Amino acid sequence: MSAKNQNDRGLDGLAALLRQLPPGLAAPAIEVLLDDPVSGTDFLRRAAKGERKAIKALERKAERSNHAIETERAQIESERHASALADYLRQNPGGNVVRVMNLVRELVNIPRHSGTEVLGDKTGKANQTRMHDLQHELYALLSKYEFYPSIDLKPKSDSWLVMPTWRPLLLPLAWEGQMERAAEYIALADFMSTIESGEWERVRKCPICQKWFYAQSKKKLVCSNSCRFRKYQANGVVRDKRREYMRSYFRHPKVKTRLRLKRKARSTGEKGV
Ligand SMILES: [Zn+2]
Repeated sequence: MSAKNQNDRGLDGLAALLRQLPPGLAAPAIEVLLDDPVSGTDFLRRAAKGERKAIKALERKAERSNHAIETERAQIESERHASALADYLRQNPGGNVVRVMNLVRELVNIPRHSGTEVLGDKTGKANQTRMHDLQHELYALLSKYEFYPSIDLKPKSDSWLVMPTWRPLLLPLAWEGQMERAAEYIALADFMSTIESGEWERVRKCPICQKWFYAQSKKKLVCSNSCRFRKYQANGVVRDKRREYMRSYFRHPKVKTRLRLKRKARSTGEKGV
């Protein structure tokens, strides 16, 4: 018998074992096999026979990897929404969606107070009032949008994941400005989809060029390299401090001596040539 035939028979045997597993457990079983082919095959035989402990272990493994995939998918989705939101805001910087976002930003920055602070403390009271005002303004803005509840099905290994969702209820096509309104609805839905992951906080307005952008990293505060350079240049404090530092540096006796020696060395070197 050739080595190839033996190999094929081995694979057939493995395939037969995998087929005997309950649905959804073939993928984690293959992972176990790849980790350690010898003990993995033995483990797989026990699972195929329906041994409770082995099946449970595979189920836990499947659940963990499903969860990891779901989390990653949710993150990718959220990033996609955030980037679409930034695109919309760049073109519509004065619209309702910006107002909604600014209200939420202001709301989350209000410090939390204890019940006694809210009742007796001046700042506590003022913050509480401000919070209520902002919330009412936000509700009033959001109440102009109409969405209807819907259900999405997303593939999940061997079954479906049922997802609740909201679809925009758009006005009839004849309505003037329909396209703008549709874009606004979509942008608002994008914003809503980035709230849970916190990704919306990376959708920022560049303080230099005033354009909206999606910051790939949390630290990024300006939109581009050219704006970073402009920010640095515009920062007079930094420039003046640097100038002052250089001035005092060259006045330092040690530096002065070193520079004098350097000049001397250079001039003698030149004479030597
Ligand atoms: Zn910029």
